[in-house]
Amino acid sequence: MNMMKPKLNQVPFVSVENMMRLALDVGVEQCMVELASHIEEDFRRWPLFDKRPRVASHSTDGVIELMPTSDGTDYGFKYVNGHPKNMKEGLQTVTAFGLLASVDTGYPVLLTEMTILTALRTAATSAMATKYLARENPKTLCLIGNGAQAEFQALALKAVNGITKVNLYDIDRTASEKCLRNLADSGLELAICSTAEGAIEGADVVTTCTADKNYATMLTDNMIGAGLHINAIGGDCPGKTELHRDVLLRSEIFVEYPPQTRIEGEIQQLDADYPVRELWQVITGEDTGRTSAGAVTLFDGVGFAIEDFSALRWLRTKVGERPGFSQALDMIADPDDPRDLFGMVQREAGRMAMAGI
Ligand code: NAD
Repeated sequence: MNMMKPKLNQVPFVSVENMMRLALDVGVEQCMVELASHIEEDFRRWPLFDKRPRVASHSTDGVIELMPTSDGTDYGFKYVNGHPKNMKEGLQTVTAFGLLASVDTGYPVLLTEMTILTALRTAATSAMATKYLARENPKTLCLIGNGAQAEFQALALKAVNGITKVNLYDIDRTASEKCLRNLADSGLELAICSTAEGAIEGADVVTTCTADKNYATMLTDNMIGAGLHINAIGGDCPGKTELHRDVLLRSEIFVEYPPQTRIEGEIQQLDADYPVRELWQVITGEDTGRTSAGAVTLFDGVGFAIEDFSALRWLRTKVGERPGFSQALDMIADPDDPRDLFGMVQREAGRMAMAGI
C-alpha cells in the first residue's frame, strides 16, 4: 500500500554473544566510561523523565522486577531478577533483558540482553557517584562481595576515578580468587583480605556488592574512617541490606529516586521521613555534595530505570555504528494495510500452501 513505509517490523536484537563481542570491541573500561557519561547526561535532565518505583514481584527466594521510564522521545524498560540462592545452583543471581521503543510510534527500536549491560551500567553508576561524592584522587577501593558484579565495579572505578589498588573480600575466598585471576592483567594492584576490616584499611572508597536475601551487616560503624565514600549497591530489596544502621546515621546519604530507595535501599532501616539527598541534584549543582573532607558519604544505590534507559540509548548508538553486532528480529506484525492484520495471516496460509509447508 504505502511503498515509502519504513521497515519498522525488523527490530535490532543484541544477543549475549553480540554484547560480549561489542564490549570487547569497544573495550570494557571504555564502555563504562561512555556509560557513566550517558547516565550523567540523563541525571542532568532528571525532571523530564517519567519516574516511578520499579514494579517488583517478590517470592520466597527472589524478586522479578520491571523498570520502565521515558524521556518523552524514547521509552525503555528492563526485566530483571534477583535470586541470591541461584549462585549455589550454578545460576546467575541477576539476569536481565530490555527494550527501547519510540514514543512517537510505540514501535520497539531495540531489544537486548541486559545481564552484561546491567553489570556495566551498575559499575558505571558507582563510578559516577564516586566522582561526585568521594574525596579527590581516590586510590584504594575496598570491594566487599566478589561475585558477578565485582570486576566491573573495580574496572569502572579504575577507568573513571583513577583507582589503582583494590582490596578484595568475600565470605567465599574462591570468589576473591576468581576476581584476582580475572583482573590479573588490569594494571590494578590487588590483594585478597581475610576479613572485611582488613580490606577496608587504607581504603578511600568501599563498594559493597554482596547478595543475601537478609538484613546483613558488611560494615559496622567502627570500621568507617573519616572521609570515606561508600557505594552500597548489593542491598536492593525489602529485607536485604548490607550496612549497620549506625553507619547510615553518621553518613551523608545520597540516593537515586527516594520513593524506590526508601522501599529497597539501606535507608529502609531509617524512618520514612529521614532526610536523604538526591544524586542528580549533586550532578546539576543544586546540591554541593559532601560537606567536608572528613564527612562519610554513602551512595545507597539500588539501580534505577533511568540508568538502564541511558544504557539502552548508548547501546542503540553503538549497534547503529556496528551493524554486525545485532540481528534483525521479525518482531512486529506490520501488514501493508494496517487494518488488514487478518488478511496478512490469510496470505501467509496461501504462501505456505504454495511452498508445500
Ligand atoms: P553474586 O551472587 O554473583 O555475588 C555475591 C557475592 O557476595 C558472592 O560471592 C557471595 O559469596 C558474597 N557474599 C554474600 N554474603 C557476604 C558477606 N556477608 N560478606 C562478604 N561477601 C558476601 O551476585 P552479583 O550479581 O555480584 O550481585 C551482587 C548484589 O548486587 C546482589 O544483591 C544484586 O541484587 C545487587 N545488584 C545491584 C544492582 C544495583 O543497581 N544496585 C545491580 C546489579 C546487582
